Amino acid sequence: MVSTQIVLANRPKGMPVLTDFRFEDIELPVLSDGEVLVEGVYYSVDPYMRGRMNAAKSYAPPFEVDKPIIGGVVAKVLESKSLDFVAGDLVTGRLNWRKKDVVQEKLLKKIDASIAPPSYYLGILGMPGMTAYVGFIHIGKPKAGETVVVSGAAGAVGVIVGQLAKIKGCRVIGIAGSEEKIRLLKEEFGFDEAINYKTCPDLKKAIADLCPNGVDIYFDNVGGEISDAVINNINFHARIPLCGQIALYNSSVPPMGPRLQPMLLSRSVLMQGFIIFNYESLFPEAIKEMSQWIKAGKLKFTETVIQGFEHLPIALLGLFSGENTGKMLVKA
Ligand code: NDP
Repeated sequence: MVSTQIVLANRPKGMPVLTDFRFEDIELPVLSDGEVLVEGVYYSVDPYMRGRMNAAKSYAPPFEVDKPIIGGVVAKVLESKSLDFVAGDLVTGRLNWRKKDVVQEKLLKKIDASIAPPSYYLGILGMPGMTAYVGFIHIGKPKAGETVVVSGAAGAVGVIVGQLAKIKGCRVIGIAGSEEKIRLLKEEFGFDEAINYKTCPDLKKAIADLCPNGVDIYFDNVGGEISDAVINNINFHARIPLCGQIALYNSSVPPMGPRLQPMLLSRSVLMQGFIIFNYESLFPEAIKEMSQWIKAGKLKFTETVIQGFEHLPIALLGLFSGENTGKMLVKA
């Protein structure tokens, strides 16, 4: 059986371009025992995938040149030689960017579309949801009445963090990159205030004005100058879950910034980086809590869905120009 795959053609320098990807037709092997034939339904594009396009060693191994890109996928089982799956099952796993693929059963988990739409298993009930919950609840340790600032607030992780902050009785200010995102954060997702960093003339002052008692939790999704501006307003005993640094992912030489450590030191601030794959033991708790909040209407989610497997590279690049609100997905 013939399938199509997308491989890494070149390691990008700076911002990736479409020619860093290549489409190829391949012949799939015949199914063996313990394997299933799947067809991709939803493909996730995530900022961390940019890091895997580099050769540098990191927590996830680099993608190999001329080998398929790998990412979160929701797929349908077409044929099965596994005792765990039957044709028609919906499954999720970290799979090759292939239209169809022969996959070992151990790489797949069955999903229950009666609990939530299948795409949610790549979003609020998947990696971004787990990241928001673990980072905010277990590292941010919110207390009612505290002031929370979230950068990358209108993205998959950010939009959840802001709502968790409201559920925990905090005041929450989001930072995002368009007027439409600002409107959505306030009107749809319950943020108390939101700032458009692209048009704000003085971000440090805007945060000071909106946070007269200082910032108790800064959930950092972006880094760079946005984080410098927030950290200048950080409170005594504040917590900074260091989740992402997307503003720096395409810089070959990281830009110099102000030295913030004296402020962190003198204000007894805790800044903690975390990689969600190290917190799997907390996922059942996160799924249980968030499913209840979704059912109760306290937690909403949104997606930007691009149609067509052939648009996967452009969807991935779109994360770096803010094309998405909520989770960026491609529907095959
Ligand atoms: P998003 O859905 O938030 O998509 C990325 C968003 O980042 C864009 O929509 C854009 O929004 C914003 N952005 C892009 N470039 C810049 C820039 N130069 N400066 C400021 N904002 C920028 O992605 P996720 O929710 O999936 O991930 C959010 C962050 O969390 C990422 O940094 C990611 O790497 C990290 N992450 C970390 C994990 C961990 O284990 N630590 C796990 C999952 C994610 P805008 O229009 O507002 O600019």
